[in-house]
Amino acid sequence: MRTITIKPKALTHNLYQVKKLAPSAKVLAMVKSNAYGHGVAAVLPALQQADGIGVATLAEALEARQLGWHKTIGLIEGAFTADEWQTAIAQDISCVIHHEPQLMWALDNIPPASSATRVVWLKYNTGMNRLGFDAKGVIDAAAQLHAAGYQLILTTHFANADDSSHPLNALQIQRFNDMLQILKETVSQEVKGSLCNSAGIVNFAEHHHDWVRPGIILYGSSPVVDQSAATLDLQPAMEFCAQIIALQTVSANDAIGYGSLWSAPHDTKTALVSIGYGDGYPRVISTDAYVTVINAADQQRYRCAVLGRVAMDMIVIDASAMPADTALNSKVILWGEAPHVDEVASHAGTISYELLCRLSTRPARIAAH
Ligand SMILES: *Cc1c(COP(=O)(O)O)cnc(C)c1O
Repeated sequence: MRTITIKPKALTHNLYQVKKLAPSAKVLAMVKSNAYGHGVAAVLPALQQADGIGVATLAEALEARQLGWHKTIGLIEGAFTADEWQTAIAQDISCVIHHEPQLMWALDNIPPASSATRVVWLKYNTGMNRLGFDAKGVIDAAAQLHAAGYQLILTTHFANADDSSHPLNALQIQRFNDMLQILKETVSQEVKGSLCNSAGIVNFAEHHHDWVRPGIILYGSSPVVDQSAATLDLQPAMEFCAQIIALQTVSANDAIGYGSLWSAPHDTKTALVSIGYGDGYPRVISTDAYVTVINAADQQRYRCAVLGRVAMDMIVIDASAMPADTALNSKVILWGEAPHVDEVASHAGTISYELLCRLSTRPARIAAH
């Protein structure tokens, strides 16, 4: 048994937290990369109160339409080809336009007035220096798109929103706000704005504009460096579990697993757990890493350290604090309430986003009620 359980109530709760933080903005719930590994089909029913969803690829957009999502779909890197632009029109997908070729496709193929593709997210490079037009390019593109009948949402993306003290934030905010003002004055008062990802929603409350674009916060991880998920009253939307498949006692000075990384300082009771990097549990993890065992014999929870190297299919945990009647097949929580995926990520030298996205297809996926 290896399971990934998705909790719709947690997703709905986290969406509600976003709405409390950004009460006047519309919400584009980011469900790219298979909803940050949670599964698009599993999360969409819980995100019905969002005004739209955001995806990175056309295939993701088409999947969401197929699953019956009727509201806005924002394609955040836009069409990659003229053909994709045509498909976006056919499926009523709203695209980012971030460079000249996309602008040309849009001007050469104007969707019907009723189409959602008439709304374009015009990307302004305010300092991230990945996608987007420079100031002059944005003003030119906005004028042309407006003249062709498009409605515009000026958008940009923060490079350091997780760290509110980073000096680039103020500069990006100022460039964005100034440009929005220019476009309102010179192109149309109707131009809308979208600036904030999850971290921006938390850190820059005065700059939420018309649309916010929460991602990780919906899944229950903290988007900022100085506040935990618990402090932000977020609930983890995923529980990742396995089970104890064997119990052992390792003799003093004997080592465990590949590389013999961990040697028992004294006779130590251990448990083998049916999880590994083949499931998406990180192979490189610090000695502080732990799991929670729910002993099937007494239903008590035990915090157990991960010992030695994580293998493809197995890990070994320290069961010395567990009672003599510890039951085979007891449930082991890799992440969920405790440890939180944010903790596991920090023990693995990465961020929750990566751990969530790189889960494999091997664990069974279960929807909680
Ligand atoms: C992924 C993404 C988001 C969401 O980011 P989080 O940090 O997960 O909130 C928002 N906007 C854009 C353009 C993105 O690519």
